[in-house]
Amino acid sequence: MTGEMTGKVVIVTGGGRGIGRAIAEGFAAAGAAVAITGRSAAHLEETIEAIRKAGGAALAFPADVTDKAAVQALVAETERQLGPIDVLVSNAGIEGPLGPVWEIDTDAWRRCVEVNLIGPFICAQAVLPGMVARRSGRIVNVGSGGGLWAVPFDTGYSTTKAGLIRLTEGIAIECEPHNVYTWVIHPGVVHTGMSDYVMGTEAGRKWLPAYREALERGRTPVEWAAELCLFLASGAADGLSGCFLSVNDDYRALAARAKEIKDGDMYTLRLKTHPTQPPPRPFQRA
Ligand code: NDP
Repeated sequence: MTGEMTGKVVIVTGGGRGIGRAIAEGFAAAGAAVAITGRSAAHLEETIEAIRKAGGAALAFPADVTDKAAVQALVAETERQLGPIDVLVSNAGIEGPLGPVWEIDTDAWRRCVEVNLIGPFICAQAVLPGMVARRSGRIVNVGSGGGLWAVPFDTGYSTTKAGLIRLTEGIAIECEPHNVYTWVIHPGVVHTGMSDYVMGTEAGRKWLPAYREALERGRTPVEWAAELCLFLASGAADGLSGCFLSVNDDYRALAARAKEIKDGDMYTLRLKTHPTQPPPRPFQRA
């Protein structure tokens, strides 16, 4: 299969189902060789089969993104079999425990941090030495609108997704001098296993009714996340490295205004201050 990603090597975590599967299929359809990972070998095999049937190239490596040794082995094996990694999409994620902070399970909250925040950190750490040495690479972290605001009764999830926005910004600043770029994206409200979990459990119905309402108002097509990832991987939005972008944004128009957006410190998390007070000054800037 040939397309704008022909010759590129892409890793998609959580690529066996849901949004990750659509992203993996999107890159394969555009000509990339895709390595997908996740814990369930059966889901990975299904996706690989579908990609190959459609004429694409894909490999499956079962791994847990919280396991540093397994992720490093995945990266090494991908490079051995497919070549240097051009794009990492850190998509794997889970819901956290739902309910009031004083009632929810600490270990489930901790696990949410491990998968949603430490997982993308471990994956970035594994691909960045090669990308920095080659002066080429792009990383897309799949975040959530839930990282922009407090989401009461879903504090684990929203805290990890807020952390992912800040992690992405930090990586972007560190990597820009090395020609390596990164973004964090919101894929929309998509009907997947995660949404089934939220809608199908008593805790989900009780504590996250707004999510059900959002799904009922309109589901985002799963392909939109793949389209945004492909756009970012194309290099057209390198000027927006570090930013939070949603599939609902007119991201092509935003990319054309990248300088204005960066100069205006937009599309990331900032402290809102009272107009009578001086805004805090980032210590790493003059
Ligand atoms: P799904 O539950 O359908 O898929 C989650 C994927 O992550 C699966 O492939 C799963 O594979 C993988 N995964 C989970 N834990 C691990 C782990 N420890 N190691 C490796 N892989 C893992 O969810 P979605 O497709 O909906 O979510 C994908 C991303 O999109 C997530 O980051 C989510 O937060 C984000 N998102 C989703 C929204 C939605 O409306 N659906 C809205 C906003 C953001 P396996 O179980 O086999 O390991």
